[in-house]
Amino acid sequence: MSTSRLDVAVVGSIGLDTIETPHHRREEILGGSASFACVAASFFSRVGMVGIVGTDFPAACTDLFNHFSIDLKGLQVAEGMTFRWSGVYEANMDNRETLSTDLNVFADFLPDVPAEYRGAPFVFLANISPDLQLHVLDQIESPRFVAADTMDLWINVARDSLQSVIQRVDMLMMNESEARHYTGVHNLVQAAHQLLEDGPAYVLIKKGEHGSILFSKDEMFVLPAFPLREVTDPTGAGDSFAGGFIGALADAGEVTPETLRTALVCGNILASFGVEAFSLEKFHLLERLQIDERISAFKEMTQIP
Ligand code: AMP
Repeated sequence: MSTSRLDVAVVGSIGLDTIETPHHRREEILGGSASFACVAASFFSRVGMVGIVGTDFPAACTDLFNHFSIDLKGLQVAEGMTFRWSGVYEANMDNRETLSTDLNVFADFLPDVPAEYRGAPFVFLANISPDLQLHVLDQIESPRFVAADTMDLWINVARDSLQSVIQRVDMLMMNESEARHYTGVHNLVQAAHQLLEDGPAYVLIKKGEHGSILFSKDEMFVLPAFPLREVTDPTGAGDSFAGGFIGALADAGEVTPETLRTALVCGNILASFGVEAFSLEKFHLLERLQIDERISAFKEMTQIP
């Protein structure tokens, strides 16, 4: 892992989540797409975070980012309240309903990408308004690989900007319902190919506990989710997946069919750890050795003789 420069720049939300699952309720815990993505990426490479929090952001959360050596020069602290989101999960732990979204300081956020991040070769545009994603992309100088995530909300309220994002990235990540919603096509293979027509070389369709599929114009890579005995909180699984993926790809340093597949497996495994606890709690004590062991177990269980 390089220590002298930034490998990955991430923009996304940083917030306090209130989450209800069938068995637990947790209030105001650290969440946000950039939080999960940066922490997951930090296991593999040097990451810088672009985002905003309010003056009420707990010092313990900043300490946690520092614990993972995330570069915080791109994290603005503004007068006001931090972004808040709350959601409730159905018994299947896959479907969820958003109860509230309070943008707070995000409402007036204009990302200013620090000079040190502008040459970052790998960029992840985590879930946030597509206009903010574009604003960050405009400030990055010739990145090698850009991946982007989004959510239903932006398909509904900012479709044109989202389309501009899709046209400018190398990889688009969407969950299955978003891909169907955006394209109007139910069949996921057809939906992915329609998205590929818009520009990205790769489209990753995420299917929750059923895994994910990477599409390019002439290839598919099918990735089951790592089977877990118990899922505690699926919040941020997609962001941990994306962070682990982009971090591992940056660590590999080049984008080839092999490094992409290896990086996807890393993302898959990071997501599996993330959902075993609320917020970023599982990552706190996670060691690289445990990640490597789970990657080996995953390879073993997906081998076809
Ligand atoms: P995921 O489970 O991958 O969809 O990510 C959940 C995270 O996204 C939570 O920690 C939320 O704080 C964050 N989030 C929810 N809604 C939004 C939104 N509209 N914009 C940005 N981030 C959001």
